[in-house]
Amino acid sequence: MSALHVTDVVIAGGGPVGLGLAVELGQRGVRCLLIERYENPQPIPRGQNLTNRTMEHFHFWGAEQALRAARTVPKEFGIGGMTSYGTLLGDYHYDWLQRELVKPFYFTDNERLPQYATEAVLRERVAQLPSVETVFGWSVSDLSQDGDGVSVQMSERAGPGRRTVHAAYAVGCDGSRSIVRDKAGITETRQDHDRFMVLLVFRSEQLHRLLERFPGKSFFNVLHPDLNGYWQFFGRVDLGSTWFFHAPVPLGTTRDNFDFEALLRRATGTEFDVEMQHVGFWDLRIATADHYRSGRLFIAGDAAHSHPPYGGYGINTGFEDAANLGWKLAAMLDGWGGASLLDSYEAERRPVFVSTARDFIADSIETDREFLRDYDPARDRAAFEARWAERGGGAKGEVNAFEPHYEGSPIVVGETEGTPSAKGGHRFEARAGHHLAPQKLGDGRNVFEALGEDFTLLCFGNETSADGFREAAAETGIPLRIVSDGGMQAREAYAFPLVLVRPDQFVAWAGLGADDPASILRRAAGQQTI
Ligand SMILES: Cc1cc2nc3c(=O)[nH]c(=O)nc-3n(C[C@H](O)[C@H](O)[C@H](O)COP(=O)(O)OP(=O)(O)OC[C@H]3O[C@@H](n4cnc5c(N)ncnc54)[C@H](O)[C@@H]3O)c2cc1C
Repeated sequence: MSALHVTDVVIAGGGPVGLGLAVELGQRGVRCLLIERYENPQPIPRGQNLTNRTMEHFHFWGAEQALRAARTVPKEFGIGGMTSYGTLLGDYHYDWLQRELVKPFYFTDNERLPQYATEAVLRERVAQLPSVETVFGWSVSDLSQDGDGVSVQMSERAGPGRRTVHAAYAVGCDGSRSIVRDKAGITETRQDHDRFMVLLVFRSEQLHRLLERFPGKSFFNVLHPDLNGYWQFFGRVDLGSTWFFHAPVPLGTTRDNFDFEALLRRATGTEFDVEMQHVGFWDLRIATADHYRSGRLFIAGDAAHSHPPYGGYGINTGFEDAANLGWKLAAMLDGWGGASLLDSYEAERRPVFVSTARDFIADSIETDREFLRDYDPARDRAAFEARWAERGGGAKGEVNAFEPHYEGSPIVVGETEGTPSAKGGHRFEARAGHHLAPQKLGDGRNVFEALGEDFTLLCFGNETSADGFREAAAETGIPLRIVSDGGMQAREAYAFPLVLVRPDQFVAWAGLGADDPASILRRAAGQQTI
């Protein structure tokens, strides 16, 4: 690399989100430079549960097969979750976070594998994209911007190398201590839960044998009355031997002053062999950046929002940030993205995270806290059992209710007065601002196999009703694929004969017909404000 380097987009940080963004941009032919501090993915099994929606990203990123091949728990075993009361092996438990329940609304199955394995797959995919350049073992040390672009200083981690890169945009995917966020002057709002957490990685074949009574379960949440709603969380890293565990520990705990093996046995409720491999700590807090954009600088993933891994939202939310921002940056660089397109990234993604944190993460801590305070089998077994059974049924509702959407977004065209949120409900009907559900087309393909990489107009029935959009696309320069379908299944499920789908598979508009197709397209591409 030369000392003066010019590219379109600099991505600071090559964790999962930076790598996902690099694929999204690289596939769109955008020149980008990804700068990652570490030569290799760090061997901590963090973000493991990948939702159906995340797997759609991997499908479109050309990495779904490779990712599934890298999973560490065989497919036949299952990747379900379970909640227990008191101890892991206690008498009370129910199925939890069965994300496969919403599978009909997504094109792909959910998946589970350690984050370093996911990162390795993405690194391989990035290496296949000619417009993406990567530098591993380098850190972003400073950056600045003016009206024309950004300048990024980078330094070699284990050497004297120093470089400056110029780009049109820079995106900080550099984690919760983001230097990009800092240099962009973006503040964050924090909700401290005042909890210090330990993360253990350990080997135990005996624990695997003890858990054979719960076939198909790969992660376990143990609720204990003493922990005030905070979880003790076990997860399989592979099948049979390696595990991770996180739980609250007293402030001031260090690797040397605490008996972690005793903690594991207490949480499990029995003796078993433990071979400790890693002891780390993290603070339980929810932090939300007050903005996701400052001029030509953007933040995504943990740089924009960090939170406890309760419910496995972190990596999945970050991948959706990458998918949302990627097509918008590409549209700007291609020349058809309008003035308000880049602002819509924050307008859509930030409220979704605020809702995820409030309605799913903090709410689950509060609900568990109240339950543990109000119900105790030692006090009133019948009342406890009735409420426990009710909670088991409610766990399904939580999976259905997590439906991030962009109702009311400035680039969504509909009558809705709503606001973007993580709370919704899965439906097949095509709703402006919501993720498109898959459907079978008359020719046997799935709609997801027919979508273009930019906007797609699904036209069911009379093909001439797409003519106005075809002309509007030519007039506005907004790339549009038209998919005409004579079958009835998708038409009936979507409830509209015309559905305009965004490059990130969200519905921009759906209707019976359009008086002014150019205005709909312009609005969806940020060329026209309300
Ligand atoms: C204990 C634990 C368990 C978790 N479990 C789950 C789970 O089960 N499910 C889930 O969805 N999420 C989980 N998470 C959260 C998940 O790991 C994160 O949401 C995810 O890693 C975010 O990805 P990211 O790419 O935004 O950030 P990161 O993974 O933090 O990646 C940031 C990258 O930027 C690099 N970097 C930082 N600064 C610089 C710099 N100046 N220059 C160059 N590179 C830089 C870092 O080396 C790193 O590779 C867990 C987190 C923890 C801590």
